[in-house]
Amino acid sequence: MGINSIAIAAYVIAALLFILSLAGLSKHESAKSGLTYGIVGMVVALAATIALAVDHLSGVDGKWISIGLLIGAVVIGALIGLWRAKIVEMTGMPELIALLHSFVGLAAVLIGWNGAIEGFDPTGVDPGDIRSLTNIHEAEVAIGIFIGAVTFTGSIIANLKLSAKMKSAPLMLPGKNFINVGALVVFAVLTGFYIARDTHDDTTSMILLAVITVVALLLGLHLVASIGGGDMPVVISMLNSYSGWAAAASGFLLNNDLLIVTGALVGSSGAYLSYIMCKAMNRSFISVIAGGFGIEAGPADDTDYGEHREIQADAAAELLANAKSVVITPGYGMAVAQAQYPVADMTAKLRAKGVDVRFGIHPVAGRLPGHMNVLLAEAKVPYDIVLELEEINDDFGETDVVLVIGANDTVNPAAAEDPGSPIAGMPVLEVWNAKDVIVFKRSMAAGYAGVQNPLFFRENTQMLFGDAKDRVEDIISAL
Ligand code: NDP
Repeated sequence: MGINSIAIAAYVIAALLFILSLAGLSKHESAKSGLTYGIVGMVVALAATIALAVDHLSGVDGKWISIGLLIGAVVIGALIGLWRAKIVEMTGMPELIALLHSFVGLAAVLIGWNGAIEGFDPTGVDPGDIRSLTNIHEAEVAIGIFIGAVTFTGSIIANLKLSAKMKSAPLMLPGKNFINVGALVVFAVLTGFYIARDTHDDTTSMILLAVITVVALLLGLHLVASIGGGDMPVVISMLNSYSGWAAAASGFLLNNDLLIVTGALVGSSGAYLSYIMCKAMNRSFISVIAGGFGIEAGPADDTDYGEHREIQADAAAELLANAKSVVITPGYGMAVAQAQYPVADMTAKLRAKGVDVRFGIHPVAGRLPGHMNVLLAEAKVPYDIVLELEEINDDFGETDVVLVIGANDTVNPAAAEDPGSPIAGMPVLEVWNAKDVIVFKRSMAAGYAGVQNPLFFRENTQMLFGDAKDRVEDIISAL
């Protein structure tokens, strides 16, 4: 059996391992083994690719220099990846993921350009088929560059928004829907010209491809910049999906079956995740993937909600000690403050006093799907008291005290009550129905979506200002 056949068999094994990895990652209990399958699959894929390169380069001058460069690139990339993964904070994961998506996009653009410069290789092809196969090659080049460039700049904007280096509010250019649709039309027309031309190594073809690249880069910027903070979770999974399709397009250009399969797996699972997230958030899938298509800017919220009330930790502790039922709704601030450990201690203390304590988890609380569940599991909060939004939302009316710990957008009544709000229609935890609500945060600042929260001014709400970890520890001492 030649190296080629062994490599193909290795690719099939790697593809199966990637499928097992996705299946494992879909459940908490199997997530670790899912990761292991993914890592082993990637090692097999890399080894097979290097073996194929050694085989393909046999007899070529400077073969070992090329192989050395290839292995060097893999080692450098792997070391940087290991280092970044080791130092990244949990709250920094989404921006790191967005950055990694941008690399896939950039790679697809470079592979596309390489495919254009090298041109279609007619060796061994029936002369009658050369024309049509060349056209297919060119379509792959243009589509690969387009998806890659949209993914590249879109992911960079997502990275900047998620790392708070850019405002999360949506960019509302006049006629933004026409800009998006116009860019798609320009791409389709230019690609048609690019494919229809007889010669492809001339300056005009390169100019056409350069314009396609620039249009796609600008479209990626505009698509993601136009989406508001509240919809960013869907954008991340959408870019994940785009990066998969970009990889699949590169696979067609490179004739690499594994890249096609893996890209399609990532592309379709990312698209499905975006779809279910849109359903959970009551958002239109088409609107989000089309950069907020159909959403227009509403007037800025300058409502005067009146004065807020404050509470201190010892008074909060008294309220909790006298309560029969308590619901804790954690959010991004709990992750920033790393307050999950004192929150778990406080929960244990209250439960020991006979208070019924449960947690209400919003599907997009924090900055990652499942972010809060992971933090609470880390702090050993029992699974059976951690409930999803739809399991707990009807119970707030019978709850004595709700502790909103570092959550904001996910408990904002404007989503349910103000049709003009940028987060209107998004399901939220209806904490305001409880008897008393205590909000832990450091200031009156808005949440990630940049929307004012009327909850803070309600009669039954009291603000407990300061770092969530410090304030929860104060409550534990007072208890
Ligand atoms: P928000 O981001 O809406 O609000 C978090 C709050 O935590 C802030 O208002 C902040 O107020 C407070 N906070 C920050 N640091 C601390 C601290 N050390 N101690 C106490 N409070 C603190 O959080 P939510 O979890 O409610 O909502 C998540 C948002 O993020 C949604 O808009 C969601 O769409 C978006 N998002 C979610 C993703 C996901 O997959 N889950 C991915 C990307 C975006 P202050 O500064 O006053 O302290």
